Amino acid sequence: MKGDMPEVAAGRILGHEGVGIIEEVGNAVSNFKKGDHVIISCVTSCGKCDYCKKGMYSHCEKGGWILGYMIDGTQAEYTRIPYADNSLYPIPAGSDEEALVMLSDILPTGFECGVLNGQVKPGDTIAIVGAGPVGMAALLTAQFYTPAEIIVIDQDDNRLAVAKTFGATQTINSANENAIEKVMALTNGKGVDTAIEAVGVPQTFELCEEIICAGGHIANIGVHGKSVTLHLEKLWDRNISITTRLVDTVTTPMLLKTVQSKRIQPRKLITHRFKLNQMIEAYDTFEHAAKEKALKVLIEN
Ligand code: ZN
Repeated sequence: MKGDMPEVAAGRILGHEGVGIIEEVGNAVSNFKKGDHVIISCVTSCGKCDYCKKGMYSHCEKGGWILGYMIDGTQAEYTRIPYADNSLYPIPAGSDEEALVMLSDILPTGFECGVLNGQVKPGDTIAIVGAGPVGMAALLTAQFYTPAEIIVIDQDDNRLAVAKTFGATQTINSANENAIEKVMALTNGKGVDTAIEAVGVPQTFELCEEIICAGGHIANIGVHGKSVTLHLEKLWDRNISITTRLVDTVTTPMLLKTVQSKRIQPRKLITHRFKLNQMIEAYDTFEHAAKEKALKVLIEN
């Protein structure tokens, strides 16, 4: 996380995504039994607190995003999932289980924080800033709503080429081109209806502020570690909205159906596979994602 999560205790087992097979269940679990195949949600939810009852599992008073952060996570042979009845999803028999790892976090994150909060509608022009796995998840799930144009902005040509195959109608390499000018040229000087920020640094959020059209929506997904300048002197009269969200994973069951029906194919996001004893190599690949052409790196036990 490049130091953006200093609360993580030394020695913590990382990882908040995964699929697995139930080995043992606690007394309070009634929905699952030993041997069941499950998707592990990145968000733990008790299902009983005020936030859970509002569907805001991300702020569950007893859970939220704690896996691989405040409690030991999934990059291990075994992992303990609290409130399992609410925090796990059964995998239908015969599923492509590898692809379903994308339902732990990135697909609901791209969809809920980017597409839903960004209010993507048919005929819209949208921009997705950042073509990492979460940006790609927003790209895949934005197409449920048939936007007219999807502009993907990144600094990595390989990722932009992949974005084209996933449905981007325009790509901009902001390392070589002036992204603001290019977006304005593509939108008759108006800007985009929705700008989805999927990086988490000041420059990319400020880019969204520059390219949003009147009445548009800036939907932040990125995990920010530094303060960002909010240009209210330019935006105060633009009728825009800015949203932030930690993924609630409330759309996981719906997204599972779209994966089962092959409406979206998140398997395409998996670029590398490693065994658990190759963890250092896996992290190395992840760190040098551009050079390794890495999107999602899978680790198998
Ligand atoms: Zn709760």
